[in-house]
Amino acid sequence: MPTVDALSDRLTEYLDLQQIKAVRRAYFYAEQAHDGQRRKSGEPYVTHPLAVASILAGMHMDHQSLMAAMLHDVIEDTEVSREGLENQFGQAVADIVDGVSKLTHLEFETRAEAQAENFQKMVLAMAVDIRVILVKLADRLHNMRTLGAMPPEKQRRIARETLDIYAPVAARLGMRDLQLELEDLAFQSYHPMRSKYIRRAVVQARGQRKDVITSIEDAIRNRLQQEGLKGGVSGREKHLYSIYSKMKSKGKSFAEIMDVFAFRIVTESVDDCYRALGIVHNLYKPVPGRFKDYIAIPKANGYQSLHTDLFGARDITIEVQIRTKEMDAVASQGIAEHSHYKIYGDSSSAIDGYNRARKWVQGLLEMQKRAGNSMEFIETVKTDLFPDEVYVFSPKGRIFELPQGATAVDFAYAVHTDVGNSCVSCRINRRLAPLSQPLQSGQTVEIITTPSAQPNMAWLNFVVTGKARSAIRHFLKVQQRGESVELGRRLLTQFLTNYGASIDDVDPMVLSQLLDEAGFTTLDELLEDIGMGNRMAYVVARRLRPAEETGEDEQDGDSTGAALAIQGTEGMVLHYARCCGPIPGDPITGHISTGRGLVIHRTDCRNIAFMKDDAEKCVYLKWATNIDEEFIVNLDLKVESERGLIATLATTAAGVSANVLKVDITETDDALNTVHMDLTVKDRIHLATVMRKLKALKAVYKLTRV
Ligand code: MN
Repeated sequence: MPTVDALSDRLTEYLDLQQIKAVRRAYFYAEQAHDGQRRKSGEPYVTHPLAVASILAGMHMDHQSLMAAMLHDVIEDTEVSREGLENQFGQAVADIVDGVSKLTHLEFETRAEAQAENFQKMVLAMAVDIRVILVKLADRLHNMRTLGAMPPEKQRRIARETLDIYAPVAARLGMRDLQLELEDLAFQSYHPMRSKYIRRAVVQARGQRKDVITSIEDAIRNRLQQEGLKGGVSGREKHLYSIYSKMKSKGKSFAEIMDVFAFRIVTESVDDCYRALGIVHNLYKPVPGRFKDYIAIPKANGYQSLHTDLFGARDITIEVQIRTKEMDAVASQGIAEHSHYKIYGDSSSAIDGYNRARKWVQGLLEMQKRAGNSMEFIETVKTDLFPDEVYVFSPKGRIFELPQGATAVDFAYAVHTDVGNSCVSCRINRRLAPLSQPLQSGQTVEIITTPSAQPNMAWLNFVVTGKARSAIRHFLKVQQRGESVELGRRLLTQFLTNYGASIDDVDPMVLSQLLDEAGFTTLDELLEDIGMGNRMAYVVARRLRPAEETGEDEQDGDSTGAALAIQGTEGMVLHYARCCGPIPGDPITGHISTGRGLVIHRTDCRNIAFMKDDAEKCVYLKWATNIDEEFIVNLDLKVESERGLIATLATTAAGVSANVLKVDITETDDALNTVHMDLTVKDRIHLATVMRKLKALKAVYKLTRV
């Protein structure tokens, strides 16, 4: 049975004593935390984390990864908290363990196969520190090696998940050895009969193949020697799962696949690779179109090698891979290989995994520059490892890919425009959360909608997807259009009333002539134009007034008609002037502002003093009686400075249901300070109540509405 002492011995190969001590401490901590727990096989639970750490030690991973491996199930399966781990072992280790626990929580079982690729990306996206994935992969590998102890149903599920998610993730990171082992183990569990059949066939074929392999191997080795080139040649065994998937995906028979013999030549230098290529092409005829130079143009995961196919005797094909020793190490261990020689270079373990993975990508970038090829594959690597995307679930388990920083509103629009347009709030991981909160990979997002809801203009401040942005804009535009038409109708009706007419009994001939001149086809377009303030209702009304009125006294036009009633629900075409802040009860006048619609001022506001009697620019307004809105007013106070005064002011106002939005105190040399308050009230009567209460305070000397 493997022990922590045996592991420590192996670690002396590449870790210093302090680091080995830390790894041992993590082991004993885990042993105690898991005390009494057993694996399905009956062994003490701690044998599992120890085995996971040993797998990582085989990849020469740093001591923090090994510590995290020892502790990886502690948060999940014992009483120990993340904070507890952080206190004991530091933030980096706690972060990795936390990341691994989160990955464990993702459930793949019910997801459609088509989503597997997104899931792979999600796994990568969730791990800010790449070591999280390496620990998780090692964890999965050990679980696969010991899968036999599980009930058959669970075996199948875990095997499927391994084939769909973890083996491809290993492949993306270039960890070929790990990928192949995961695949073969999962294949045996998922398709026991098929795997048994292929295994038997391979064993049978091996006998006949042995001679062929030896003779080709010898031929290549001899020729390399004759040319004075150092390098090893070996035949490569085919893996069960790769045989199976070739049979399945390419429709080939077992015999066809077994007629391909694969060899690898490992050389001392890059130059030797190309020389070896010339040598084998000279020895056997190459198959046209099969040569690939992954040395000049590496694969996205950093894989480098020369590949070529050759015609052998008796209709067999010879596949040859040629690469240097370093390339060979990378080909089997991928990112793990890259991360471990960084540790040799810099023994301080402070470089976190993120930096290391970043360096890995930079390394790829340089390779790419040398190769002078398109930047595309670098982009692929970057998005895989340093995701600009987040991956989140709908409550039904569908995965959505969104850009970094996306919010629940973006998610809602990604689901459907109607969902976005009617969303009012959201639950993230079953808890209510603000719509503006940026989402994180792995979260489940549920959108709460009501049929009467509408998009909010403020959403434009935080949505990041083009889809959400344009849908919100579109909605607001349509809504504004409707509101403009409605306001235009009311303004025109108002002025027509002065002529004793209404829109309904306007002469159709006169109307269509006016529409023609203005370049409109419908009355609504005309009304919209009026509502937006682009066209004077007064002028239009004069054109449309009944014929018999023509020539009569036009003074009627701007005499007092019934004032237009304002409900406060007119929406975007109605604005309350900031300068005077009108509230219900104030006498008001509307200024028709080009392109904006109607701006409401207090009638005594200085800004409209010079034009309020100009019927072309202004309309008389009155407040509707049933307004149910809050209006902002500004108050200036002279107060004696006193402890807790702001709180007193705020609670006093709140006591009579006024919401205080802002309180500013300006200290003066005087005994009295100036206070500026913004609060909301319903109307003038409400305001009077608020002011009376504030004035009653002892500290308040003077109080004015601005
Ligand atoms: Mn585990």
